[in-house]
Amino acid sequence: FLSRLHSTQASAQKEDSGFKGHDMLAPFTAGWQTTDVNPLIIERSEGSYVYDIDGRKYLDSLAGLWCTSLGGNESRLVAAATAQLNTLPFYHSFWNRTTRPSLDLAKELLEMFTARKMGKVFFVNSGSEANDTQVKLVWYYNNALGRPDKKKFIARSKAYHGSTLISASLTGLPALHQKFDIPAPFVLHTDCPHYWRYHLPGETEEEFSTRLAKNLEDLIIKEGPETIAAFIAEPVMGAGGVIPPPATYFEKIQAVVKKYDILFIADEVICAFGRLGTMFGCDKYNIKPDLVSLAKALSSGYMPIGAVIVSPEISDVIHSQSNKLGSFSHGFTYSGHPVACAVAIETLKIYKERNIVEKVNSVSSRFQDGLKAFSDSPIVGEIRGTGLILGTEFVDNKSPNDPFPPEWGVGAYFGAECQKNGMLVRVSGDTIMMSPPFIISPQEVDELISIYGKALKATEERVKELKAQ
Ligand code: PMP
Repeated sequence: FLSRLHSTQASAQKEDSGFKGHDMLAPFTAGWQTTDVNPLIIERSEGSYVYDIDGRKYLDSLAGLWCTSLGGNESRLVAAATAQLNTLPFYHSFWNRTTRPSLDLAKELLEMFTARKMGKVFFVNSGSEANDTQVKLVWYYNNALGRPDKKKFIARSKAYHGSTLISASLTGLPALHQKFDIPAPFVLHTDCPHYWRYHLPGETEEEFSTRLAKNLEDLIIKEGPETIAAFIAEPVMGAGGVIPPPATYFEKIQAVVKKYDILFIADEVICAFGRLGTMFGCDKYNIKPDLVSLAKALSSGYMPIGAVIVSPEISDVIHSQSNKLGSFSHGFTYSGHPVACAVAIETLKIYKERNIVEKVNSVSSRFQDGLKAFSDSPIVGEIRGTGLILGTEFVDNKSPNDPFPPEWGVGAYFGAECQKNGMLVRVSGDTIMMSPPFIISPQEVDELISIYGKALKATEERVKELKAQ
């Protein structure tokens, strides 16, 4: 099995770069990969493309890790970072000291987020830190309100919320839990809202959503509503396989959450700033969250920065209770880092000036329709997505119940074929994920579709061969 994956991955790489067995303990990478296969070393980027150290050009269909929304060489972001580095490369935001860029960015985010009125912004360096911060905010809030038992979190199966201990606990992917002694006991998981995979025979999307909301309510009642603090969800699930919600899902889920006085946390780390064809995922699905997590496209991935937007009800309690509970003793050296904030401010300015939501909507049908046209392929189970995010799931017999044998490495083969043809995709088992930069041009979308089509044809042939063996 492994040797097949070795050769699949190696087949996409050029000659030995001399970095086999390198010195990094690499994230989300298997040991055998670094010892047996050359790493793909990316050296520079330009627009929707990245280039490796051999000068090979790849269409970056995942925008780095769902983040480089403005592409690879936005000079205004470089200028914003340089100007800030030349003025004030660092100062912190502890003890009521802070910097102008962090104050300006907080103000801007509160103005931009219009799904409901929000209160304050807390800065972090990543999506994982944003979600860890959510847990501490919620616990502090419930302690302040004298509800010490209201501490459990409900997340969903296949959710991705990060990889620190707590955010990985919220994550609903077993591979991130095994061998790490998580999830933490205060985290519960409810159903993944994937209609194609989990609906009952004859069940409509609306009925499926009703059943999932009922299951959520049953879980809350079983655990005791007085013990459940918050529910966390990505508007469209990302790393779990790109799973848009079924019709009426968030409407029904929000009604349940509200009924039991449970806070709603929207993890907008992937969805925010235009990815779904609306400024925020909450706008698209009419979500009225109490707390929001942001990262990635907040700075177009140019600097590590994330943020938590907090409702006025929560920030008021935290402020007013500080005499009793003391300061909100949480934060990072780099919370509100001035260079990261300056880059984020410039990123948001560009989104506004270039009307980024309209820009995404101007290419999203080409992207979605062009790729969904491959849905008839005999190895494709489902192609799903919205805006500039899309997932493809390979299965046998077009059935979610007939996965290909993992040792066939069907997804890995498709990924390697894309790479050979000049495009990088994200592969997770037999699911392929794409979320190109917002600035992708119609011609680049056509190129993306053409490479996808070639790789699909080659993968269909490969599956035929494997079946014949
Ligand atoms: N939440 C979501 C929805 C994400 O997609 C991610 C990262 N892919 C995270 C949180 C974690 O972000 P980070 O990797 O910046 O910690």
